Amino acid sequence: MALTTSQFVREFEDNALALFADELDQLSPQQQYQALAVTVKRYYAKQWADTKDRYDRTQEKQVYYFSIEFLPGRLLASNLLNLGIKDTVEKGLRKLGLDPAVIYAQEADPGLGNGGLGRLAAAFMDSMASVGMAGNGNGIRYQYGLFQQRFVDGYQVELPDDWLRDPDMWETRKENRAVIVKYGGQVALRPRQNGSLQAIYHDTDDVLAVPYDTPMVGYQTGVVNTMRLWSAETVPGRVHDLAEKARINAITQILYPDDSDSAGRELRLRQEYFFVSAGIQSIVTHFKRFHRDLSVLPHFVAIHINDTHPAMAVLELMRILLDEEEMSWEQAWQVTVATMSYTNHTLMAEALESWPQAMFASLLPRLFQIAQEIDRRFRLTYVRRYGELIVNQAAPLADGQLRMAFLAVIGSHAVNGVAKLHSELLKQSVLKALYQIFPERFTNETNGITQRRWVQIADPALATLIDTKIGPGWRRNPLALTRLREFEDDEQFLTDLIAAKQQNKLKLADLIQRQLGLTVAPASLFDVQIKRLHAYKRQLLHVFGILEAYLALKNGEDRPPRVHVFGAKAAPSYRYAKAVIKLINAVADLVNHDPAVNTKLKVAFLPNYGVSLGEQIIPAADISEQISLAGTEASGTSNMKLMATGAITLATLDGANIEIRDAAGKDSMAVFGLTAAQVEAAQRDHTYSARALYDQDPLIHRIVDMLTDGTIPGVATEGREIQDELLEYNDNYFVLADFRSYLAASRRLDQLSQTPLAWARLALANIAASGQFAADFTVARYGREIWQVLPSQPADE
Ligand SMILES: *Cc1c(COP(=O)(O)O)cnc(C)c1O
Repeated sequence: MALTTSQFVREFEDNALALFADELDQLSPQQQYQALAVTVKRYYAKQWADTKDRYDRTQEKQVYYFSIEFLPGRLLASNLLNLGIKDTVEKGLRKLGLDPAVIYAQEADPGLGNGGLGRLAAAFMDSMASVGMAGNGNGIRYQYGLFQQRFVDGYQVELPDDWLRDPDMWETRKENRAVIVKYGGQVALRPRQNGSLQAIYHDTDDVLAVPYDTPMVGYQTGVVNTMRLWSAETVPGRVHDLAEKARINAITQILYPDDSDSAGRELRLRQEYFFVSAGIQSIVTHFKRFHRDLSVLPHFVAIHINDTHPAMAVLELMRILLDEEEMSWEQAWQVTVATMSYTNHTLMAEALESWPQAMFASLLPRLFQIAQEIDRRFRLTYVRRYGELIVNQAAPLADGQLRMAFLAVIGSHAVNGVAKLHSELLKQSVLKALYQIFPERFTNETNGITQRRWVQIADPALATLIDTKIGPGWRRNPLALTRLREFEDDEQFLTDLIAAKQQNKLKLADLIQRQLGLTVAPASLFDVQIKRLHAYKRQLLHVFGILEAYLALKNGEDRPPRVHVFGAKAAPSYRYAKAVIKLINAVADLVNHDPAVNTKLKVAFLPNYGVSLGEQIIPAADISEQISLAGTEASGTSNMKLMATGAITLATLDGANIEIRDAAGKDSMAVFGLTAAQVEAAQRDHTYSARALYDQDPLIHRIVDMLTDGTIPGVATEGREIQDELLEYNDNYFVLADFRSYLAASRRLDQLSQTPLAWARLALANIAASGQFAADFTVARYGREIWQVLPSQPADE
C-alpha cells in the first residue's frame, strides 16, 4: 500500500491522542505499541473486509484449517512487512524519537501453541494469505498459554503465561457469530415420516462459543484472511451455579502441554469438541447463506484436520448432515469424506490419540453413536476383502478405545505425512493396515517455514546482503535464492556473509550477557539446539558431546571455541525431560566456571524458548543440531529455519533433514548416526545393548559415570534417573549407539571452521537451497493435491 512517512506520523499521533488523550512522548512503550497497532489495523481493515466480501461474491472454494494450536509469534512487524510499509513506519518512528525494536518488544507472543505443530499451522496461515489462497484458521483462544519458563537453581519453574493481560490488539470479537456447543445429556432417536431418524437431545450442558477473528495479512497481495479462535462463555439468559460457570470457563482457559499424561484428559476432550463443533457449525451456517444443497459442500469447502485433535470433525459434520440436514447416511458420508483431509504428525504409537469409549460416550453421546455406525459399516464393507485381522487393526473402535487417527483416515479423502521419510514410515507402521485398504489416500507434504519471519524480519543483515546479489525477487519467490549458487566462489560475498553472521552473533552474545550474566566470545562457533525437550530429540546426546569436549580440554587438547546454545521447555509432568534440563544447567555451571576450559567452551541455556526468542537465536547460529533418533522426528522445521539463515546442520538422517541434504548437496551437512532402517532392525531383533557399549568403550563409560560420580554438581537424583534410562532400560533412543559417530561429525565441523571461506561456502549452499522449504510452496501443494484450491498469486515452483 502507498503510505508516506509524514502521513503515517500524523495518523499515528492522532490515534495516540484519541486512545490515551496524551501526546506520544507522554505514553508508556506499551501504550505507544497499542496506538501503533490501532494505526496499522486501519491500514488493513478495508482489505480484510474486501477479502471477505470477495470470497462471498465469487464463491471460491474455502480451506478451513482446524488446529488445536497456532503459534504465530508477534504480529506487528509481520503485518508491517506484509503490508509493504515496514520501512516507512520505522522511518516515521525514528523521526518521532522512538525505537521500533522497543515498540515491537511490547507485544506478547500469543500463547496459543506448544511448538512445531502450532508453528506450522501459523506459517500456513501466513502463506495461504501470501499466495492468495482462501484459507481460514479454526482453533481455540486460550486465555493462558503454555507456561513461562524460568530456571531456579537449574530447575525448570513454570509460571502462568498470562499473555492476554495487555489486550491483544489484533483480535476482533464477533459476538454476532457465536454458536452453542452441547455436551452430555441423552439422545433419543425417533423415526421421521420419511423413514430417517430424528435425534432428540435432553439435559445437555450448553456452552456459548464466541469467535475472535485475527487477520492474516498476505505478503503484498491485498489478501487478508481470517484466523478464527473460539472462546467459551455461559449462554446469556441461563442461570448457572458457580461450579457450572467454572466448568465452562475452564474449556478455553489453558493450553495443554502436548506431552502431558492422562490427568485432566476429559477437559482435553471437551476442548477438542468445543472448537470442532463451533467451527463446523459456523462453516455450515455460512455455507447455507449462499447454497441450499449441502451435497455440493465439497465443491466449496475443504476442511483440514491438523493432527488428530480435530479428528471429531468427521463425526460432527456427519451429525449435522444427518440430524439437522436430514441427509441419508450414504450421502452424508460421501460429502464428509470428500470434504475432510488429515495430516499425521507422529509415528510413535503411544502418541496416537485415543479416547476411552465410556468417557467419549458420556460426554458426546450422539457423536459416539455415529462413531459406532462408522465402525460397523467399515467392518462390514472391508472384512470380506481384507480379512478380520486387518480390519480389526484398522477399525476406529477397539479395546474399549476410540482411535482418532484411524477415524481421521477413514473419514478423509487424503492423508499425509510431513516429510518423505515420515510419510513412507507411516505406511509401514502405525497406519499400515489402513494403507492396505486405502492406498490412494496417502500422500506426502513436506513441512515448510516462512522466510518472511525467519529471514526478512529476524535477519535483516542477511536479507539486505542477498538483495545486493540477486535483487529482492526472492522475498516474493524464495526459490530465487538458488541463484545465490552463482556466488559460491565470490570471496567478497562470502566475506560479507561471515560479517553479517558475526553481527548477529554479537547481538545474541549481548542477549546472553543480559539474560544469563554470561560472557561469550562472538568469534566462537555458535552451536544451537532449540526445540521442545523430549527424549527422542536427544538433547542428552548434545550434552554428552559437551562433556566429551570438557574432558578433552581438561586434558590439554586444543579445540576451536564453541558456545552451545539451548532453548527448550519440558512438559510439566515429563520427569525425564525436566531431569535433562537440570543436567544442561548443571553442565553449564561446571564448564562456564572452569577457567581451564571456559575460554573454549561455554553453555548458554536461554529460558522460555518461543517464537520471539527463536528470532533472536536463529540468525546467530553457526551449527544447527538436528539429532533426533532416525525414524522419530516427523519432519522438524527448526532445521529449515536454521539453514535459511546459513547455519550448517549437524544431523541424523531423520525427518526433513534428508530433504535438506538432498537440496543443499551431500557435503553441505554433517551427517551421523544409525539410519531409520538400522534402528528398526536393532529394535526388532533386540541386537542393541547399551550396557555392552558402556562396558567396552572407556569414553562412554567415563561420561555415563560423570552423571553420578559428583563431577557435575547438584545432579545426584537427575543423573541417576538418566543413567538408569541408559543402562537399566537399555537407552530407548540409542544415545550411546550414536555417540561416537556424533563426535566424529562434530569434529568434522571443527575442522571445517579452520577455513572460514569453506564454511561460508557451505552456509551459502544451505541458504541457496532453503527456498524450496518455503511454506508458500507447501500450501500450494496441499491446494493442488488435497484441497483442490489454487493460489491466485503463485510463485513459480
Ligand atoms: C520452529 C519452532 C519449533 C519446532 O522446532 P523443531 O526443532 O522442528 O521441533 C518449536 N517451537 C518454536 C517456537 C518454533 O519456532
